[in-house]
Amino acid sequence: MSATSWRTHRCGALRAEHVGQRVHLGGWVHRRRDLGGIVFLDLRDRDGLVQVAVGPAWSGAEVVERASAVGAESVIVVEGAVVSRPPEARNPEMATGAVEVHATALRVVGPAEVPAIPVARGKGEELPSEELRLRYRHLDLRRSEMLHNLTLRHRLLQRSRRTLSDLGFLEIETPILTKPTPEGARDYLVPSRVHPGECYALPQSPQIYKQLLMVAGFDRYFQIARCFRDEDLRNDRQPEFTQIDLEASFVGQDDVLEVVEAVLVALWDEAGAAVPRPFPRLAHRDVMERFGTDKPDLRYGFELRDWSGPVAAREIPFAAPSLANGGRVRGIAVPGGATLSRKDADALATAAKELGGSGLAWVKRQGDQLSGSVAKYFDVESLGGLGVGDGDAALFAAGPDAVTSTVLDRVRQRVIERFQASPAIPHAFAWIVDFPLFERDPETGQAVAAHHPFTAPHPDDVDRLASDPLSCRALHYDAVYNGNELGSGSIRITDPAVQRAVFQHLGLSAEAIESRFGFLLRALAAGAPPHGGFAIGFDRVTMLLAEAGSLRDVIAFPKTTAARALFEGAPAAPDAAELAALHLRVIP
Ligand code: ASP
Repeated sequence: MSATSWRTHRCGALRAEHVGQRVHLGGWVHRRRDLGGIVFLDLRDRDGLVQVAVGPAWSGAEVVERASAVGAESVIVVEGAVVSRPPEARNPEMATGAVEVHATALRVVGPAEVPAIPVARGKGEELPSEELRLRYRHLDLRRSEMLHNLTLRHRLLQRSRRTLSDLGFLEIETPILTKPTPEGARDYLVPSRVHPGECYALPQSPQIYKQLLMVAGFDRYFQIARCFRDEDLRNDRQPEFTQIDLEASFVGQDDVLEVVEAVLVALWDEAGAAVPRPFPRLAHRDVMERFGTDKPDLRYGFELRDWSGPVAAREIPFAAPSLANGGRVRGIAVPGGATLSRKDADALATAAKELGGSGLAWVKRQGDQLSGSVAKYFDVESLGGLGVGDGDAALFAAGPDAVTSTVLDRVRQRVIERFQASPAIPHAFAWIVDFPLFERDPETGQAVAAHHPFTAPHPDDVDRLASDPLSCRALHYDAVYNGNELGSGSIRITDPAVQRAVFQHLGLSAEAIESRFGFLLRALAAGAPPHGGFAIGFDRVTMLLAEAGSLRDVIAFPKTTAARALFEGAPAAPDAAELAALHLRVIP
């Protein structure tokens, strides 16, 4: 075996048609079985597994000895003949199961210590803890599920590139060492060594750069962009993540949605799912009313209803204070919900309380019997008026809309888990449009950009920008899928005066506007075409299409929920000399 031609075939590629051929293979020892003088090795590479049989008759004693000593996960190279397995030894579950390789030579080229976590797993055998999987990622990545996920990821990346390139988008890279781009999170800062006291920021998104590219006339841009956001971590977030970022000139909302739909449909097609177009469009205000969330799972019903009138009429104590304070009573009718046990209802009520509500009231009907925390205020007829019939239940939350929306969104998700069989439609995409331009920061009371500050106000609301900013809608849109936000975008402000006004509404001083965004304002004043764009959360899309349990399962080297890289051990403390070179001192 010359070092320049290690392999003639991939392990997973061998089939009956190769019988009689001499092959050279290289791979990892997945499993070893010693059976009556013959050693069977399952040899694994990226393409799959093949059985290598090592026996005294065709391999010789020395090779048998070497094979019986080789450790799991060692890398070996094998030379041998492909032979047909006898019918009783064929394995229909293995793509290569009709054949095996009779080794005539075998060399261990990469011996492995005893693996810290197993790679080969028997059916039903549990995975090691995620912490161990992340710590020994080089072994975890050898598992077929990870290989499958990352291969799918590759295909999705190539498909999105092809799709956008075919639509006339140019792939252009933007810097990683940048000036802060506000997307509502904290920046990761990189101190400059050559400019004491100054920092770069890692991009929260390429937002400003892609707008500058439009000003420069590039017309259609995209990038598979790495973005960095220093947020308090939640289970489904990564501090660095990938988005399919795009921007186009001389477009309105409809044009952008059409391009993004084309990309999403192509990605689902790549994963084997046919998705009908166009996606329905729903106004933000309406989805908040009907589902209590801006990323509703539209595969299911259980829409929220306003029951303030009927509840007020019955003077039910749990709702009285909320109604007196201008709140509402909203609820969900659950067909078949009479099977809800007190324990189920209590669990829902506890979840509701955790979200800041006054809890959840409930009533259910079985025949003429009503039960539940507010049963005594209703009869069969009045429940019928709420759309609650025999065998059904009604769940109520009272309070300001912000609270009842959060509570009932959560309750609706639990009800879906508990009561809904398979959904009528498997892929429920939608556009959410007409978002508010500003929202009030609950802590400071200050108006903050609901998305980012470059989003254009809705043309019908622009007159109210100064007088009533919180009532203005934005030309902002989100794509949602089965209860997940897939991405968002907007038409941008191109008038430097409007952009300045928005910065002022957000409380920025003239100096702050100049120092943070002066370069953007000057660019907008240099001849800016109408433009808009979008960013698709690529990790999430891959996770959904791979049906993976977490984002970490579709990223080769992810961070933990505590933003640590366990494998390589980051972040890590710099030594004193490094700190000094960066003109930094750690304040304990
Ligand atoms: N920059 C936005 C984001 O990262 C996307 C966009 O508005 O195009 O969410």
